[in-house]
Amino acid sequence: MTAQREWFEKDYYKTLGVSKTSTDKEIKKAYRKLAGDLHPDKNPGNSVAEEKFKDVSAAYDVLGDETKRKEYDEVRAIGPMGGGGNRGGGPGGFSFNVGDMQGGGLGDLLGNVFGGGGRNRGGSSAGVGPRRGADVEAQLTVDFEDAVAGIETSLFLTADASCSTCSGSGARPGTSPKVCQNCGGRGVVDDNQGFFAMSTPCHVCNGAGSIIEYKCDTCRGTGIERRPREVKTRIPAGVKDGQTIRLKGRGSPGRHGGPAGDLLVQLKVTPHPRFGRNGDDLTVTVPVSFADAALGAEIDVPTLNGSPVTLRVKPGTQPGSRHRVKDKGVVRTTKSGTKRGHLIVTVDVVVPSELNEAQRAAVEAFAAASTVESSDEADGKAS
Ligand code: ZN
Ligand code: ZN
Repeated sequence: MTAQREWFEKDYYKTLGVSKTSTDKEIKKAYRKLAGDLHPDKNPGNSVAEEKFKDVSAAYDVLGDETKRKEYDEVRAIGPMGGGGNRGGGPGGFSFNVGDMQGGGLGDLLGNVFGGGGRNRGGSSAGVGPRRGADVEAQLTVDFEDAVAGIETSLFLTADASCSTCSGSGARPGTSPKVCQNCGGRGVVDDNQGFFAMSTPCHVCNGAGSIIEYKCDTCRGTGIERRPREVKTRIPAGVKDGQTIRLKGRGSPGRHGGPAGDLLVQLKVTPHPRFGRNGDDLTVTVPVSFADAALGAEIDVPTLNGSPVTLRVKPGTQPGSRHRVKDKGVVRTTKSGTKRGHLIVTVDVVVPSELNEAQRAAVEAFAAASTVESSDEADGKAS
């Protein structure tokens, strides 16, 4: 137990400007931003910034460490004045006399609080009262076309789920959990430790508030079973490779009536043999003959989902030049309306690998004409 006096007094979440439900990533980001802004190198001689920098570092020292953060959350959830009326509201008017607590007093006290069966069950099962389920991460591969157009699909994953035998109650089918007599279903009991009162998790029910007499054989009373499951989901149009989609409440089930965690689906988009993507624009390379490029022409351009469109290229179109076909890119619905990308066409001027007789004659005539032109120029300059 590394809990410190400060844990009761300081709201580290507030210090970092994040919420209790913020992810590790969000906390890290917030910390980096603050630490960067407040760094003593950037604020020489500014003692206020220096103090804040220390606070931010101390906060991240705890919230940035998964184990410490959990302990901190547990300490804060119970609070020195008990979990009854003051939960989440901070320590209020509580004042801590450190002198009284020295000599292992606090450690012993917290040891008693947490020493029961609660903590060593691991994961989200530990602790008191309703507890949100863990977020679950999964990966999903979608085709290029489906990423552009959106798709209803299923995701198969093996993860913690509500037990299929007991529907998550933890009790053997035909039986039901009984209200804990020790705590009357509250999950906590009031405990007088000398001069201040404190609620501690009920040691009979481990904070659940109920007791399962006949445990479900499948989940051994946890109500949670690790099993393969199918999650149906709609992937919106216009998603990108590497993007993560959050499916609310589709992660691990919560404990003691807490909400389920989220399912974070990281998308992998398989490349298309012909089309590429640049944000909301689609890209495609189209072969154009030397003659068409030189003389100008109307060329057929394929689109991803639909019939080809006609693109007019001007005389003298250069290899590698890019042309825009309006609104034929990714169509995405956003809060501010529908967004349409474009189709960006790159011209690939093709040199024929073989020439028939007539073509050869024509190209030779072209070459001769080009030579005459340039020699005329040369003559003109020389005279
Ligand atoms: Zn079960
Ligand atoms: Zn109880």
